[in-house]
Amino acid sequence: MKILVATTKTQGARKNDFCFVPEAEPVMFGFECDNEPIDGGCGCRRAMVGIGCLKATTTVAVAETPMDRDGLIAAFVESSKRSGFNFTAAEVAPMADDLLRIAGRFPAGTVLERRGDAFRARPVGKE
Ligand SMILES: [Zn+2]
Repeated sequence: MKILVATTKTQGARKNDFCFVPEAEPVMFGFECDNEPIDGGCGCRRAMVGIGCLKATTTVAVAETPMDRDGLIAAFVESSKRSGFNFTAAEVAPMADDLLRIAGRFPAGTVLERRGDAFRARPVGKE
């Protein structure tokens, strides 16, 4: 199953890129400020949050993993416990399905950027 994970690949392609998440950590949507522009100072509308570190990254990669949908949901539930929100599986399932749908649209290894509600592939040049 393909999921989205943090990557530092293509960091710097945009001047306002940042990545505070360890490479390959699964990511999820974080909370967003009201009226925050995509390229605003906060960055919440162009970033995803690592489920372990709870920090943010503007670059994510599509990764093929042995994890299944239930495993991903369990990981999101566990992450929400750490952040104090204590979401249930039913509460995080729609987010898991959104992310699986997004990851499913791209080949494994594709680096994506988030622009509000849209995800776009970034060209991966020489690394
Ligand atoms: Zn924000």
